[in-house]
Amino acid sequence: MKQNEAVFSEMSGQLFYRKIGSRYIRDKIIMEKNYIDVQKGNENMLYSNLSINESGHLCMQNQDTVELAGKYGTPLYLMDENVIRNNLRMFRSIMKHSFGNQAEVFYASKALCFKQMYRILSEENICADAVSASEIYTALHAGFDPEKILFHGSAKTRDEIQYAIRNHIGYFAVDNAEELKRISQCAVHDNITQKILIRVTPGIDPHTFEAVKTGKVDSKFGAAIETGQALQIVEEALRMPGIKVSGIHSHIGSQIFETEPYLKEADVLAEFLARVKSECGWECSILDIGGGFPVRYTEDDPSADIPKMLQETAEHMKQSFAEKNLKMPSVWIEPGRSAVAAAGITLYSVQSIKRIPGYRNYAAVDGGMTDNPRYALYRSLYTVLQADCAETEGNEPFTIAGRCCESGDKIAENIMLKDPKPDDILAVLCTGAYNYSMASNYNRVCRAPIVLIHNGIDHLCVRRETVEDIIACDL
Ligand SMILES: *Cc1c(COP(=O)(O)O)cnc(C)c1O
Repeated sequence: MKQNEAVFSEMSGQLFYRKIGSRYIRDKIIMEKNYIDVQKGNENMLYSNLSINESGHLCMQNQDTVELAGKYGTPLYLMDENVIRNNLRMFRSIMKHSFGNQAEVFYASKALCFKQMYRILSEENICADAVSASEIYTALHAGFDPEKILFHGSAKTRDEIQYAIRNHIGYFAVDNAEELKRISQCAVHDNITQKILIRVTPGIDPHTFEAVKTGKVDSKFGAAIETGQALQIVEEALRMPGIKVSGIHSHIGSQIFETEPYLKEADVLAEFLARVKSECGWECSILDIGGGFPVRYTEDDPSADIPKMLQETAEHMKQSFAEKNLKMPSVWIEPGRSAVAAAGITLYSVQSIKRIPGYRNYAAVDGGMTDNPRYALYRSLYTVLQADCAETEGNEPFTIAGRCCESGDKIAENIMLKDPKPDDILAVLCTGAYNYSMASNYNRVCRAPIVLIHNGIDHLCVRRETVEDIIACDL
């Protein structure tokens, strides 16, 4: 109670933003008197860092997004650094609390990767996953400690392996036997011992309550436990020169809203490790259980209590390992999406409005699949607001269309807008993860810049690409 009051007194007087039924409304947080109301509103609040100012403009950390769109141009990725830091702190503290001090958090770089991100990770004592030499290069250029990097990927090239070894990265997550041989050769050549985790596939379908045993055995990642291939690669790795097998890795999927798949994963891994112990005499000291923690993109997504999911997983895992007489290893997790998605919004300028009577209305924006391919790829749903009049209720459905020569280039459909006009600013919420990192130059569109807002101040962290950048590699 006391702690919550402190939090709310800090927010007292601020406007905040929530949804009731189908309508977004603005609320003023008033301390004490409305304390209970605010708490209730909070349950239904998608993004507590967004508010609406006196002009009706959408704000991030009280910074007017319409003004920021004017200052930096559109499309623009706006990211709330405080939200990123809070998420990272939550993961770190809940992991230490649930799994003990040896627990670590590895941020999955692929969700959002640029130099400043690694400064934030360093300052928050978070390690990093990388999946390419370029992600490692970005981290190292930001002064990130190579020992805190775990190198993933199912098709690492010889050059990348050599680059990672020469730059003393901490760990490899080894996917297959071919890669294992290459790492061993390279490590022996350089006269070092490379620490590795071995990626195994536990055969869990994360989208069902009941684990479907064979569901993921045919994954392109890792070695399957069920087929005996996982045991085989561990045996092989233990004999390899230049290699130290530090632990086991598994990642079961993404947007996992239930705890059940993680509990099942813990059981399958405990059983596997008991078998490895009895057959190879090797005991695992690091167990990386992957990422996949959920994010709410729209009001229809269920809310999930990630700290509770991790706590329950910890309890279950301790029990599972104790039953099999196994020492509890250091447990690592690898959140990507859940660390950064809700920190980001994308701002676009409307270029044209097209109404096809009896069919469909389009609002065409100056970005699209080049800055956010997720609708085109997965039909992902988003919340879209009119940043100029964020309080207004929409009364007409629109398809938000991108600028590319591709009919599938859409950001969202059936978005209710109120009389949108060219030059209006649209804000797409929850675009911090897998948007910038999946951006492309299709149609030779220049990639959008990233502005971080930290403690109310905006910082340009990635500048907008220019046409000179676009032809920079052309000979
Ligand atoms: C993608 C991935 C993650 C991160 O997944 P999120 O759903 O973004 O948390 C973590 N570990 C591995 C190995 C991955 O491939």
